[in-house]
Amino acid sequence: MQGLIQEGDGEEYVRLSDDLEHAAPLEPRQVRVEVMAAGVCGSDLSCIHGKYYMPTPLVPGHEAAGVVAEVGDAVTYCQVGDHVVLSTFGNCGHCATCEDGEPGNCGFGGLRYTHTEGEQALWGFANLGAFAQETIVHENQAVPIPKEVPLPSAALIGCGVMTGAGAVFNRARVGIGDSCVVIGAGGVGLNVIQAASLAGASQVIAVDRAASKERMALEFGATDFLLADGDDFDSVAAVQQLSGGGVDHSFEVVGSTKLLADCLPMTKAGGNICAVGVPDLTATVTYPFQALHQNKSLLGIRAGGGKPRRDFRLIADLYLKGRFKLDELVSHTAGLDGLQGAFEALKAGAEARTVLLPNG
Ligand SMILES: [Zn+2]
Ligand SMILES: [Zn+2]
Repeated sequence: MQGLIQEGDGEEYVRLSDDLEHAAPLEPRQVRVEVMAAGVCGSDLSCIHGKYYMPTPLVPGHEAAGVVAEVGDAVTYCQVGDHVVLSTFGNCGHCATCEDGEPGNCGFGGLRYTHTEGEQALWGFANLGAFAQETIVHENQAVPIPKEVPLPSAALIGCGVMTGAGAVFNRARVGIGDSCVVIGAGGVGLNVIQAASLAGASQVIAVDRAASKERMALEFGATDFLLADGDDFDSVAAVQQLSGGGVDHSFEVVGSTKLLADCLPMTKAGGNICAVGVPDLTATVTYPFQALHQNKSLLGIRAGGGKPRRDFRLIADLYLKGRFKLDELVSHTAGLDGLQGAFEALKAGAEARTVLLPNG
């Protein structure tokens, strides 16, 4: 099958191969999925630049949807032909944290080989290796959704949508009348914005350095847009002024430790600071203690911190009822050879998402 291989840290170390195979035969609780759509997320760029310290060679890609092609003997959760959104959690389903209903905290989902090329075993990013025509995953990672949801739109549920919406629903728990600021209005930030709006926030301030993001931010439910143009722009002062002294919830979506520190004084006493974006995993966040002191909560959030089987289905249902936008998040589609173009678009901050279609 075709798939992408990352052989080192840097975009120049990614190449397309026609000779990928599955790393191992299907196990009883695994499913083989034909990957029909895989979004190119900021985390793919971070992974390929070595900021997640992944071993290589590796098959990148982690935000995907597809069709179940084969199921192991013990699989009960999905059937051949089901449309599924793939989860990055790779949780075991039976440890204490899984039993507690916190699959994202399961320690089971370590790295594994998903594919091979000849004699060479290839790691799978996020337990998935989704930039390939097929992948084999545990049934816990394949969540069936209604077939009416187009697969390129469905793919985004697996990461960008849940990372944004889950921060709002599962971690910050935004309530009716709350105020929010969202730093970064891209593929994830737009989902923070629409989820906050859906949760009943009275004010949702979007901040971005690209003027082109304003239109979509407002369409997704932002009440205000601040253009952070240039180093002189004081986003803390601007947000404090717009919100009358600070917001209930701030969301840093860019993955910048400086912007995360800026979120503290933007947030009023008792509020939540949500670390949605992921910087280099060894980065250090520095802030004056006083900025956190007034009963504020600094929340770490991994992929929306939720329950894929509940949350993916919830988002799909909201979409089918016309209450949650997915199609608008897909800016472009391309083949597996479109990764570099997708990275250029991500770096330019010009669009929401490119979705690769590994099977055309
Ligand atoms: Zn577990
Ligand atoms: Zn992602």
